[in-house]
Amino acid sequence: MKNIAVIGAGTMGNGIAHTFAQSGFQVQLIDISQDSLDKGMATITKNLDRMVAKERITEDDKKATLANITTYTDMTAGLEYASLVVEAATENVDLKLKIFKQLDEATAEDTILATNTSSISITQIAAVTSRPDKVIGMHFMNPVPIMKLVEIIRGYSTSDEVTTLIMELSKKLGKTPTEVNDYPGFVANRILMPMINEAIETLYNGVAGVEEIDTVMKLGMAHPMGPLQLADFIGLDVCLSILNVMHDGFKNPKYAPCPLLVNMVMARKLGIKSGEGFYDYNESRKAEKVAKMFA
Ligand code: NAD
Repeated sequence: MKNIAVIGAGTMGNGIAHTFAQSGFQVQLIDISQDSLDKGMATITKNLDRMVAKERITEDDKKATLANITTYTDMTAGLEYASLVVEAATENVDLKLKIFKQLDEATAEDTILATNTSSISITQIAAVTSRPDKVIGMHFMNPVPIMKLVEIIRGYSTSDEVTTLIMELSKKLGKTPTEVNDYPGFVANRILMPMINEAIETLYNGVAGVEEIDTVMKLGMAHPMGPLQLADFIGLDVCLSILNVMHDGFKNPKYAPCPLLVNMVMARKLGIKSGEGFYDYNESRKAEKVAKMFA
């Protein structure tokens, strides 16, 4: 594998492109929005600068990583050369099904199609392609260049061969892959999202304020980040989509999203990416706040 295409240059897509490029892969980073591509490349550059400053990589490594990434707004640009496509577009079932139909047509028949979805069924996505055995979940964690885990999700039809290949590839990226089966939320979000939702419900019920809830979980449970801060970091729209998928999938009211979360997403208070969520991230202090979270 040498050529990798990444679909979506948002929070996750730019981190995935960065990680592959830093490991020497040629990356085509594709997004329908030029603005997202520009912001994505700016984030990659800033993150590489931070790594140079911390002497984790050299200036030459940074240049080589950036040179390995090419950006496109055209979905069909050179996809036929990709050995693997990692889709990291917006968390929406209909959008993902549409993208996978396009990918199935635009790529060579042996290309592996992976999705970074947080919760949507790999089996459902695979079913719209002519190669369900080569469709797999490759769920990177945020921020991708730092976090070690990749949750590898086998759809109903994913082959052993493809699973082994993707597990090995993840190790080459310096990650620790963990194989799980395809049920709503997989493992990571099935456990994380009810906790975040409960933290929002606790706020909604007036039990405690934002900082108090986060402090209890940080200092009391030794979590590096409070659940409300983490929700801001993930994106409140992403949290809501994941809860909706689990609620629909299990038909269990325990996954019903808190009305406060629904309201905040409708008001476009999406967390760090929109500048405001449970915390306020005005532009001038945004970089400082994000850096502090990972200090
Ligand atoms: P995001 O909103 O930051 O970025 C999504 C990007 O997809 C945007 O740049 C948008 O322009 C682009 N896009 C939309 N439609 C497209 C299309 N048809 N073709 C190409 N690009 C398109 O979202 P994100 O947080 O990066 O999430 C991406 C995926 O990763 C989702 O499936 C999400 O569930 C998953 N994920 C997110 C996190 C997280 O912490 N945010 C963690 C793990 C997995």
